[in-house]
Amino acid sequence: MNIICSENQKKIDSYINGSLGGDELKKFVNHVKGCNECMEELKINYSLLKALDQLEKGDELSEDFDAELEKGIDEYLGKQRRGFILKVISYVSAFIISLAFGIVFSIFFFRHEGIDFLEKGKEETFMIDFDGVPDFMNDVKKMNNDYNDNLIEYIHSLKLEDERQESADE
Ligand SMILES: [Zn+2]
Repeated sequence: MNIICSENQKKIDSYINGSLGGDELKKFVNHVKGCNECMEELKINYSLLKALDQLEKGDELSEDFDAELEKGIDEYLGKQRRGFILKVISYVSAFIISLAFGIVFSIFFFRHEGIDFLEKGKEETFMIDFDGVPDFMNDVKKMNNDYNDNLIEYIHSLKLEDERQESADE
């Protein structure tokens, strides 16, 4: 048995009694889903512990422990997937919104303030305030900065082209 499996199998009891949470639970479920050995071990322990628990409480015994276990795992994975999709949706919409703001502002200020408003080190003409943006949105901030940098580069290339044209005209 490899180390991951033995580490995982130490957590079987905690999984069954529901005390596993967060990243530990995620790692555990992802592993047993892809590891027959650990899944078998989990199934055996699950039926044993659940049966003992039900007997102790005087509850009726479950008819199919395996099915019950798999249902629990699938429910957990379904919840994870929904959480992930929501995260992606909020990420994408926030990106589109901030990009749209970036474009609108840069076009607007480009006309009125010239090109220096985007330069680093000088006083900023405008600023989009990112306060309160959750950490997973850092990539969006980075993309906005990249957009800004690319724009500066493009503007510089236009300027150089202009200067070349002017000196050629003279
Ligand atoms: Zn394993």
